[in-house]
Amino acid sequence: MPVNVNVGDVVRMRKPHPCGSFDWQVTRIGADIGLKCQTCGRRVMLTRHDFEKRLKTILEHATPPDEPPGSLRGNPSGLL
Ligand SMILES: [Zn+2]
Repeated sequence: MPVNVNVGDVVRMRKPHPCGSFDWQVTRIGADIGLKCQTCGRRVMLTRHDFEKRLKTILEHATPPDEPPGSLRGNPSGLL
């Protein structure tokens, strides 16, 4: 399953950077994924395949994921 990430998202990897951080910010999406270490600021590029293999979880979405309309507020169509 393809991973849905966007520029600005913060992701956690399975293995730590040499500086000890597991967390990276996505700086670029394309054929390769650009990442910036949240602790030391180092930038790396991974192929999408490598990125998906190393990704553990997405910590923070820069933009909220798509939600079906009305899903958060119950059933507004019944109010009026
Ligand atoms: Zn680092």
